[in-house]
Amino acid sequence: MSAAASLPPASSASATFVEEAVCGSARCGTLKLRHQEVASPIFMPVGTRASVKGVSALQLEGLRARIVLGNTYHLMLRPGAETVAALGGLGRFMGWPGGTLTDSGGYQVFSLAKLSKKTDDGVVFRSHLDGARVELTPERSMEVQRSLNADVAMLFDDCPPGGAPRAEVEAAIRRTDLWGARSLAVEPAAGQHRFGIVQGGRFADLRAAHLETVSSWPVEGVALGGFSVGEPLAETYRLLVELAPKLPRDRPRYLMGMGTPTDLLVAIFAGMDMFDCVLPTRNARNGQALTFGGRLSLKQARHERVDLPLEAECVCETCSRYSRAYLRHLITSGERLGATLLSIHNLNFYQTLMRRARQAIQQGTYTAFARATCERMHADDEVGERSAKPPSVALPF
Ligand SMILES: [Zn+2]
Repeated sequence: MSAAASLPPASSASATFVEEAVCGSARCGTLKLRHQEVASPIFMPVGTRASVKGVSALQLEGLRARIVLGNTYHLMLRPGAETVAALGGLGRFMGWPGGTLTDSGGYQVFSLAKLSKKTDDGVVFRSHLDGARVELTPERSMEVQRSLNADVAMLFDDCPPGGAPRAEVEAAIRRTDLWGARSLAVEPAAGQHRFGIVQGGRFADLRAAHLETVSSWPVEGVALGGFSVGEPLAETYRLLVELAPKLPRDRPRYLMGMGTPTDLLVAIFAGMDMFDCVLPTRNARNGQALTFGGRLSLKQARHERVDLPLEAECVCETCSRYSRAYLRHLITSGERLGATLLSIHNLNFYQTLMRRARQAIQQGTYTAFARATCERMHADDEVGERSAKPPSVALPF
């Protein structure tokens, strides 16, 4: 089960993913973007409004991040896709020389916009900034993403809410197929990859069927969407383990918007390659540090005089220089530097988690690694219910 196998190079020179080792369903490899190759599994920091909150592009480089996410909905409203295009595209605009990926904007329309109205044609909504009437269609989404010129653009999809009944999920799939075809008819930026999104809510049969449909499209990667929208976690884990191995092997497999450290370990176990989540930076702003020994809450008085780094084994800028006591002081004083320093550490934690996962896959020990890492992380967690160890949800490993 856990024996690693070295695989021959992919036969197709145009493959956008080359598998290098597998361990059960987990895999590591190389993702081929327009200007660079990226090792997987990979975590992508979220830069919603062309900024990873509180962290500079130089700091991201220092963390060895490789791909940053931008958000179509936010950027089309402000500063506007044409403005970003005039300034050289998303990467150049934000001073980021690495890879970029933009989502299609559909998801945010429903979570942020006021009075959105959805038809087969697209979505009409009022901007959450100034109330202006805006129309987002598959064509417009892809045009905006072409202007932003990210390395990867996501096809416009219809994401139903977490508890949606079967009929509503089926309707969302039908619309996602309709919108997918229209998205693909729009010429992408030169060398820009396009990923399709699998929907299907909590229905395994719908997801399996839609996965086959999306995989048959001329897309360079396939994403699982519509998770982490309020459905029970145990259900998500079961679906991931069932579905991920069915995704194409010669293309990257992207799990959208889901990413506690445990989620990532489960998803990698299932066979996913790419991840994004706002959690490392959001937790940082709330004074939480992620460590391999569980989360630390810097708001707790116990850290007031602790002259130790967040994590002894961590080599990030924050741990190399600052004590928990100082970080607690920054957080409790509302100093912005506190959020920045914790964000740097938390992002470094994710980078380290991905590197270790990759190494374990190469060594054929991924399952044992994932189990041990989860046990350690949950054993001494300072945040939330201390008794809730380990996972209140059954893990597949
Ligand atoms: Zn650190």
